[in-house]
Amino acid sequence: MTDGASFGGRRIYLLVGAVGAGKGTQADILSERLGLPHLASGDLFRRATREGTPLGEKAKGYMERGELVPDDVTIAMFMEELSKPEAARGAILDGFPRTVGQARALDATLAGQGEGISRVLYIEVPPEDLVERVSGRWVCPTDGTPYHLVTDPPRVPGICDKDGMPLIQRDDDKPEVVRARLAQQVPPMLEVIAHYEQAGKVSRVDGRGTIDEVTGRILDALGLGQAVS
Ligand code: AMP
Repeated sequence: MTDGASFGGRRIYLLVGAVGAGKGTQADILSERLGLPHLASGDLFRRATREGTPLGEKAKGYMERGELVPDDVTIAMFMEELSKPEAARGAILDGFPRTVGQARALDATLAGQGEGISRVLYIEVPPEDLVERVSGRWVCPTDGTPYHLVTDPPRVPGICDKDGMPLIQRDDDKPEVVRARLAQQVPPMLEVIAHYEQAGKVSRVDGRGTIDEVTGRILDALGLGQAVS
């Protein structure tokens, strides 16, 4: 099988990376470039909860407690998304599978319809770079304008360009909290990677550098560098 191989003409890509690795940003870019929907588990659950669908009702309590939604509910949600016309040519999955159990269940469900994951793109960034990236985020407490100390600083240090308010750091973005989130998130993620490595499906992509550089590496890994750039 080559990179980007498709089953039944459809390409299902997994985008995997820790908090701050740029996974969501890259998923959006790829979605646009490849014309495939970006299916992000957290966004899909939040939408279902907001709309009060049966799925949203099932997911709600787990999300409020910060727990994983049960695998059968999560898989049913993705299979429904994958059955929509927008996903006829494939999709980019983000935030799922998050555990090896979910990966196995997804593989089995896809295999049941003669399909499988085409490629897993693992965006790698060293942990201390992740802490620096995430903890560099500061926001305006009144209008939410985001800044980054290194990549997108305000004109006056610590002050919002728009309304002059002193910027704040969200609790979630504090270095010690980011380290704790990584410690919780990375081990199961590495198990998912190891699972797909056994099947020869993982492309490791260096997530350092600019957004464009990372996109270029992903497209190269898919053998699509010339085709769509
Ligand atoms: P996120 O936006 O990725 O942090 O996800 C928000 C919430 O959605 C999580 O706290 C979980 O309750 C749920 N969720 C997201 N992805 C998954 C997944 N792969 N499996 C189970 N629950 C998930």
